[in-house]
Amino acid sequence: MKAAMWQGISNITVGDVPDPWIVNSQDAIVKVTLTAICGSDLHLYNGLVPSMKKGDIMGHEFMGEIVEVGPGVKERKVGDRVVVAFPIACGACFFCRRELYSLCENSNPNAGMAEKMFGHALCGIFGYSHLTGGYAGGQAEYVRVPFVDIGTIVVPEQLSDEQVLFLSDIFPTGYMAAEACNITEGDTVAVFGCGPVGQFAVRSAFLLGAARVVAVDRFEYRLAAARRAGAETINFEDVDDVNDVLKDMTGGRGPDACIDAVGMEAHEPGAGAVYDYLMQTLRLEQDRAIALRQCILSVRNGGTVSIPGVYGGYADKLPIGSLMNRAITTRTGQTHVQRYLPRLMGHIERGEIDPGEIITHRVPLEQAAQMYQIFRDKQDSCLKVVMTPQNPSYT
Ligand SMILES: [Zn+2]
Ligand SMILES: [Zn+2]
Repeated sequence: MKAAMWQGISNITVGDVPDPWIVNSQDAIVKVTLTAICGSDLHLYNGLVPSMKKGDIMGHEFMGEIVEVGPGVKERKVGDRVVVAFPIACGACFFCRRELYSLCENSNPNAGMAEKMFGHALCGIFGYSHLTGGYAGGQAEYVRVPFVDIGTIVVPEQLSDEQVLFLSDIFPTGYMAAEACNITEGDTVAVFGCGPVGQFAVRSAFLLGAARVVAVDRFEYRLAAARRAGAETINFEDVDDVNDVLKDMTGGRGPDACIDAVGMEAHEPGAGAVYDYLMQTLRLEQDRAIALRQCILSVRNGGTVSIPGVYGGYADKLPIGSLMNRAITTRTGQTHVQRYLPRLMGHIERGEIDPGEIITHRVPLEQAAQMYQIFRDKQDSCLKVVMTPQNPSYT
C-alpha cells in the first residue's frame, strides 16, 4: 500500500510499504477514505519531537471503512464506516474507566521511554513517534486500529466524510479545551492561535455558552475564519500589547478564560522571540511557550488557562508568580477523544456545527510532501488539508 512517511526534518515521502495486518484480537484494519494533516504533525515535520525513525508512517486524523476485524472485536464489523480517535485506549484500565482515555496504561508498548521523559507513561497515539508507541499512522491506504470497539464511532449514512473527519482530533480537542474553561453565562473567552484547533475552540466556546470569544493570531485568513464563527479578533502584529487590548475589551478586567491553541512553536515579535528561538535551537529549551505566557498574563484574576496546544518538554520563563498570586487555574491534557464522540456527533447531526467548513485544501495522498510544506509555511491561505488515498483492494 501507499503511505506518507517521515524521512527526516522537513522530509516526507509517499511510497510503498507492506499492508497492515491484525496483530491482537481487538484490532481491525481500516481502509482509509479521508485523512488530514494536523498542526501537531508539523512538530514532527520540524524535528521537534524526539524518537521519530525514518520510514515511520504519519497521521493520526483519519476515517474509513472496516475491512477486517480480529476475533475479539464485538461492536464493530466489516463494512462499518468509522472515524478513529487519535489516542489509542483499551477501554478497561484504571484511566479508561475514568474516561481519561489519553492516559490509557495499556496502549503504549514504549511506556518506559515516555516515563524517562515525562516521569510517567502516555497512551499510544497513531503516527506520533516512538514515545507514543511507534504505531503506524493513518496517512496511508490502510491502517491497523487497536481496540477498535472503543476507539471508533460509526458514522450515520447521511453525513459526509468531510463533515465528520475532525471528530478524530481537532473538534474534540477544541471542545475539551473550551469545556475546561468552565464557561458560565456572560463569559468572555480569548483563544490564542486560530489554526484548526483554535477554530474549534472558538466554535466550541460558543456551543458551551460563551457570550464573547476573542481570537488572537497574526494571519488575516485565520482571523477571518474565526470571525465567520462569531469571534471578535486581534491581529497581534497590529497592536502594541495584546494584554492591554484584551483589558480594554473587558472593562479592564481581562478575559474569564484564555485558551493556548498554539503550543510549542509560537511566534512573537521582538527580543523574547529571538531568545526562545536560540534556546530551542540550541536544545536548551524545548518549547517556545510564548502563547502560554501571554495566556497567563492576560487572563483575569481567578480565571482559567486551558492548554490544548502541544508541548514536548521544558519551557523557560513561565510567569509562575502571576499564576500563583492571581489564583489562576490551569487545565490541560491530550484529548480524551473517546469521551466526546457521541456528544459531538450529535452536534453535527443536528446541524449545529459543520466541521468541514474549515477545509481549504483537498488533495490525493500522493501530494502529502508538498502539502506539509504549504501548511507549515502558511502559504496559499492554507488552514486545513485533507487527503484522499487511492485504496487498491485489500488482500
Ligand atoms: Zn491532530
Ligand atoms: Zn486503558
